[in-house]
Amino acid sequence: MAFETLAGNKKTKELLNTIIKQNKFLHSYMFVGQSGIGKMLYAKEFSKRAMCLNREEICNKCKSCLEFDNNNHPDFFVIEPDGNSIKIEQIRELTNKIIEKPIVSEKKIYIINNAYLMTREAQNCLLKTLEEPPEFAIIILIVENEGNILNTIKSRCTKIYFENISDIEMKKLLEKKYGTLNLSDNMLKSFNGSMEKATKIMENKEFYNKIENIFSNIEKTSRINLLNNDEIYKNKENIDEILDYINIIFWNKLQENHKYINCLNIVQEARNRLARNANFDMTIDNMLIKIWEEIT
Ligand SMILES: [Zn+2]
Repeated sequence: MAFETLAGNKKTKELLNTIIKQNKFLHSYMFVGQSGIGKMLYAKEFSKRAMCLNREEICNKCKSCLEFDNNNHPDFFVIEPDGNSIKIEQIRELTNKIIEKPIVSEKKIYIINNAYLMTREAQNCLLKTLEEPPEFAIIILIVENEGNILNTIKSRCTKIYFENISDIEMKKLLEKKYGTLNLSDNMLKSFNGSMEKATKIMENKEFYNKIENIFSNIEKTSRINLLNNDEIYKNKENIDEILDYINIIFWNKLQENHKYINCLNIVQEARNRLARNANFDMTIDNMLIKIWEEIT
């Protein structure tokens, strides 16, 4: 894989390519952008190329490239959250090991995925390494937002920003993967530039088509029929995406009928209740009844 095969983010690609070609690596980067737009893929490709033993072009043949492709590179590490957070023990292991010289490459690279989930203690522990990194070390923090990251950490990292993929580009990519598509505007919008989200929705396209049918035609549906469709009830684990999707349908209906503004509020209310662990079936019942009463 090369950057060129990854979607979107032309400027970011150029920037990363330049860093690699000029061999001007810094010690710490922060890759910032919404989830699902490929930050990890970029970080891995960047790492592979930084560690390749051929300086000019990525070779895919050297010991470093081969071990990287086999997920077996002794100088490359990815730290993932342990449950809901990245704990100080995980970072302590990094700080202990990162000082040992790389084995195959000239570089030793650590990626910390979802680094905003680092506990405060973990961040403080990492800070020392960021302040005085070994000359061969590169640390890449991947974050959706910088909000939770200590200023002292932020100020040590060079930020690389990732933009959402445009709807048109997204459509092209999906057509490559799934063949010619007949996507509704609602569906395209709901992807919101995230390939991860798009894949999730594409793999349940029939389900989302049904949702679209139901919620685009509420005025023609009887209350019983609306409550009797068990689609939402059966998809509890995807409720966040489903509510997002319903929101988008309502947004588009706003132009025809301002009543849909209240529907947006009703959906949000349901979301809040679920976040507070309210009973799932009752919350959905309640939401559907209110939406129906609002529209009919
Ligand atoms: Zn190589």
